[in-house]
Amino acid sequence: VIVTVDSRTDADEVRRDLMGRGLWVKTFFDLGPAGRVHFLVEPGSSTVSAAELLAVPGVIAVAAQDSPHPLVDAQPAVVDVGGIRIGGAPDADPVIMAGPCSVESREQIHTIAAALQPIGVRFLRGAAYKSRTSPYAFQGHGAQALDWLREAADENGMSVVTEALNEAQLERVAEIADLLQIGSRNMHNTPLLRAAGATRKPVLLKRGMAATVEEWLQAGEYCLLHGASAVVFCERGLRGFDPSTRNNLDLGAAALLARVHRLPVIVDPSHATGRRDLIPALCRAALASGASGVMLETHHDPARALSDGPQAVPVGEMAAIVAEIHRLSGRSSCFAHP
Ligand code: PEP
Ligand code: MN
Repeated sequence: VIVTVDSRTDADEVRRDLMGRGLWVKTFFDLGPAGRVHFLVEPGSSTVSAAELLAVPGVIAVAAQDSPHPLVDAQPAVVDVGGIRIGGAPDADPVIMAGPCSVESREQIHTIAAALQPIGVRFLRGAAYKSRTSPYAFQGHGAQALDWLREAADENGMSVVTEALNEAQLERVAEIADLLQIGSRNMHNTPLLRAAGATRKPVLLKRGMAATVEEWLQAGEYCLLHGASAVVFCERGLRGFDPSTRNNLDLGAAALLARVHRLPVIVDPSHATGRRDLIPALCRAALASGASGVMLETHHDPARALSDGPQAVPVGEMAAIVAEIHRLSGRSSCFAHP
């Protein structure tokens, strides 16, 4: 946004007024005969309407650039994912997505799903395809794991969220998933974003671990432009300098998307911190930030998990976490799900 000041006005006074409204501004001097001052409102500023800016004494014009993500801007605050509403008012029913990092066996995913459904977890997560740092690490059981995941979810009346790593996997993943996950490492993979959109499924778009909010929103724009029925944004932590936690959970970005952009946001404290001992606190913080729900990794036997065991919450501890999330959101019952 560029704010132009009348040359007869004290531009310093206007600048102070704008800063008082939460705007970060850069000053530019017009070299033309009118000798006007313009203020460029920087992207990290609070949101102030053009009408409010025009009402500031001395402001004669406000020019706003077109948004680079009009479809994301127009997406409703609440989206429907196979009958489950994600997003909206802070007191809306929070959505909990949970499950193991990887689908390891038929028994494993059935055991975990059967434990999660009665406590109010609506989405069963679990990766069939893994993008691991080491090529020697467990890479996932692939198509077979997709079948196990769908079967476990169906038996327990749950929805499925799972990731496709590449275009070749998309068709099958889109068939079995209610919500198609694009992982952090693929947020910048524009051919995959386009192809994910073309499946017409709703997409859970995880934030790239070094992506700006604008890049994240524009990745969402790719999905919507190419046909995705909705995009749910998932904050999963940014790579930082401090190894105390696996990543830096950016709840400022979650609040910005949820409260200013009014978009459906899910927070993943599991990958953000890598520490199961921080999960309850960060679930509370995520909801307070405005997120519509959380995605959590859990396992019936974390010591034997084939991936991300240290951050997995033992499945027996999930009931207390889920109950607390529902209590905080003002819902009296966490068992009121079909
Ligand atoms: C995941 O959720 O399974 C995952 C790999 O997370 P991320 O893409 O955020 O690293
Ligand atoms: Mn994981």
